[in-house]
Amino acid sequence: TPTLLWLRRDLRLSDHAALSAALARGSPVIPVFICDNTVEALGAAPKWRLRLALAALSRQLQEKGSRLILRRGDALECLRALIRETGARAVHWSRLYDPQAIERDKAVKSALTEAGVIVKSHPGHLLFEPWTVETQQGGYYKVYSPMWRAVKNRDIASPGSTPDKLNAPEDWPQTEMLADWTLAAGMNRGAEVCLPHQRVGEMAARERLEWFIANAIADYNDARDLPAVAGTSGLSENLTLGEISVAQCWHAGQRALHEGARGAEQWLKELVWREFAYHLLFHTPRIATRNWREEWDAFPWSEDADAEAVQRWKQGRTGVPFVDAAMREMYVTGKMHNRGRMIVASYLTKHLMTHWRVGQKWFDECLTDWDPASNAMGWQWAAGSGPDAAPYFRIFNPETQLAKFDPKGAYAQAWIAETSDSPSDTALSYFEAIPRRWAFGPQDAYPHPMISLSAGRQRALDAYQGRSF
Ligand code: FAD
Repeated sequence: TPTLLWLRRDLRLSDHAALSAALARGSPVIPVFICDNTVEALGAAPKWRLRLALAALSRQLQEKGSRLILRRGDALECLRALIRETGARAVHWSRLYDPQAIERDKAVKSALTEAGVIVKSHPGHLLFEPWTVETQQGGYYKVYSPMWRAVKNRDIASPGSTPDKLNAPEDWPQTEMLADWTLAAGMNRGAEVCLPHQRVGEMAARERLEWFIANAIADYNDARDLPAVAGTSGLSENLTLGEISVAQCWHAGQRALHEGARGAEQWLKELVWREFAYHLLFHTPRIATRNWREEWDAFPWSEDADAEAVQRWKQGRTGVPFVDAAMREMYVTGKMHNRGRMIVASYLTKHLMTHWRVGQKWFDECLTDWDPASNAMGWQWAAGSGPDAAPYFRIFNPETQLAKFDPKGAYAQAWIAETSDSPSDTALSYFEAIPRRWAFGPQDAYPHPMISLSAGRQRALDAYQGRSF
């Protein structure tokens, strides 16, 4: 009898413990993806990017003599129907760690087990599962550095290989059509503009990893902070969808480290930031939507997502070049340089005194590398309300940051058309991407800052001190 392989954020065929276990049963494997409410709830860009990933995986499976079966609806109901239709006796999947997925998976597991189906979940999305890393006192790490020290020398099993072939069942169950899911519907804001900036699928991810290790990891320590330079791996979109495994990245980084690549350790540390984010989310699910430090609930943030200042922040028209360049970069490419993310998040939560949730929601909508753990942690880190946050008085100054990390103005020029006589193609592509109703163009004057950086900074500091944080 066939085995169902329920795919979620593990859209690859190599180093895939759940797939290997399903194949090891020796029976046909039916790969399934379900468009359930967790998929429906995704923002426009992540949903659109997921569609690209599913199309790529489906092609890959066909090359292996298999198919990707698509079903839409409640996950348990879809799996039950497939079990009925195919006679499958076992379901395998890779574990996820965000609260919605955990709740769903627990319910699915207990209902199917009760019905006599063998259900097996497997690791693969993380290097270290959240319950395998503990402080000396017991409990999870709330601060990053000691966690890094605790895990950096741990053995991580070598990545598994890619199967040559997947046994097909005699009869395939029916599949829905990907196009009917309208996962691209929300991306009326220039999907064609965004497409060239994506590296979709397992092959593209692996090639990028190889490129990064061969060409960029050595200089990572310096180049990773320069938003105009392709100095980072750019693998976040692949990692969040599991188009590459973090263990594959870890081992490639370790090899580079042993060969003496200077930036390798720092890069491995970044992979552990991702782990840290997942551990926080697993142990304190509230981090996704509520202040991790509850005393911040009293902070007088505005939650008005329609305020003009917020609109201008979203549109990249604050008049602060670093902020605007980064916001436009995200709108066009679906990604934003990490330094940009820190700057725009600090600017919104501090200079504009707006709740991090407002910014987080916009990121949810726009990021093709959207990740439930890293996005939530990143926002709370920048806002100051997270466990391992920057101290409240560290308010980024976007001007000095730009002078330091973009000294030649290349990043600002790449994304801001209004201040140049001959704007770059990328800066102009932003205007192709935005909806007409935003009603501004490259010929308009670049806006004046909404609030002076020093006044904004002081206002935030006064508010923090007023609450005696
Ligand atoms: P590299 O520098 O090549 O790093 C390798 C990998 O390590 C990344 O792909 C990523 O998986 C992980 N990583 C690196 N930095 C971080 C970090 N600070 N936190 C967690 N993991 C990290 N990352 C996402 O993947 N999805 C998000 O939705 C997301 N939202 C963010 C929101 C804010 C406000 C902030 C400050 C950061 C956010 N990050 C997010 C983290 C970080 O900005 C991106 O992971 C990074 O820019 C991705 O680029 P890269 O793949 O070239 O990373």
